Amino acid sequence: MITEDEALAHILQSVTPLAPRRVPLAQARDRFAAQDRFAKVALPVFDNSAMDGYAVVAGACGCGQAQRVIGEQPAGADRKLRIAVGEAVRVFTGAHMPEGADAVIMQEDVRRKGSEIFCNVEVEAGEFIRRRGSDLSEGQKILSTGEKIRPQTLALLAAQGLAEIEVGGEARAAIISTGDELIPPGGSLEPGQIYESNSTLLQALCEKWGACVAALEHSIDEAKSLEAALRRGLDHDILIIIGGVSVGARDLVKPCLNAVGAQTDLWRVSVKPGKPFLFGRAGRCAIFGLPGNPVSAFVTFLLFVRPAILRLMGAGADELSLRMDHAQLAEDLQNPGDRPHYVRGHVAQGKFTVTGRQESHALFGLSRANALLRVAPGETLSAGAAVSVLALD
Ligand code: AMP
Ligand code: MG
Repeated sequence: MITEDEALAHILQSVTPLAPRRVPLAQARDRFAAQDRFAKVALPVFDNSAMDGYAVVAGACGCGQAQRVIGEQPAGADRKLRIAVGEAVRVFTGAHMPEGADAVIMQEDVRRKGSEIFCNVEVEAGEFIRRRGSDLSEGQKILSTGEKIRPQTLALLAAQGLAEIEVGGEARAAIISTGDELIPPGGSLEPGQIYESNSTLLQALCEKWGACVAALEHSIDEAKSLEAALRRGLDHDILIIIGGVSVGARDLVKPCLNAVGAQTDLWRVSVKPGKPFLFGRAGRCAIFGLPGNPVSAFVTFLLFVRPAILRLMGAGADELSLRMDHAQLAEDLQNPGDRPHYVRGHVAQGKFTVTGRQESHALFGLSRANALLRVAPGETLSAGAAVSVLALD
């Protein structure tokens, strides 16, 4: 059985980023930059006032000294005002600095009498002026290839005057659930049947990480039906098959993949839950076989499918890992097994508490979890121990 690191390394080197596309900024959030970008516009764009107040010549503004107000410059078109020593211009936040002025005095710090102001404080040159380029210079790097585009990144791009941006392609996924026992939510259960919940889980996970779920179907445990579904599914960047990858006689995914001409690269990974995980390929389609138990499907999605989606979408190497949070363990934990165990838990006020049963079918405990703790084989952890957990939100 291969390790999770070996499996992930193989998966990542098997998927190639999709062709980039140009999208409006409003569609670029959580996508990945397809190229390095450099500032074309300095920020601030021009010297401007940081306050509502008066633009002045600092040297002439001793305490109590009068300055004659010669005009007004609001934010907006530059009125090309010019001041001399002893003069002031009424300015507002964001206003273009009048020529000759070297400071702004806040309106709270002056007393106005008719067309004159009297300073109540000492004024220093440069005060309350936002200098052109002091935040960002022209030519400075603003975005690296593979970097995630966040709302604040979008604001910077907009401030550069850009309406569109080149981002990595959007991964299109197909999901096939398998199993004779499964009924879609909304139907009614006969004895022995359960509701099909994994495609709801996986669709949400795919979409959360930026993939578009273009096809969603169910197959009974019957080769003909599954092969037909697989053929349709292979037409996508990613095919996720749920269930049927274990060693039971009705676990048909492996032989059916073989029958439709797909190759299986790896099967069975040393991880708990999720051991029967399968990865294969057919042309440009990356195929993931996830075990049907909901927690196994969840954990293997996060460990293996999520990074592949991100890589397809052009994410850089440092965008692939889930965030690690520090927490204190609320109870003793041990892993007597020989596979790393991903324990589901909830972090609140810095404490990690296990959520419910830890078997791979235990969906309720999973539903309460906001973090996963990886406990290594043979590891024993005591209550109070400092641990790093994978953040799920
Ligand atoms: P399998 O991997 O097909 O052997 O399924 C393992 C367990 O997961 C069985 O108890 C199945 O009933 C359950 N299971 C498989 N697929 C799903 C699904 N899509 N939704 C909910 N439970 C499932
Ligand atoms: Mg099954």
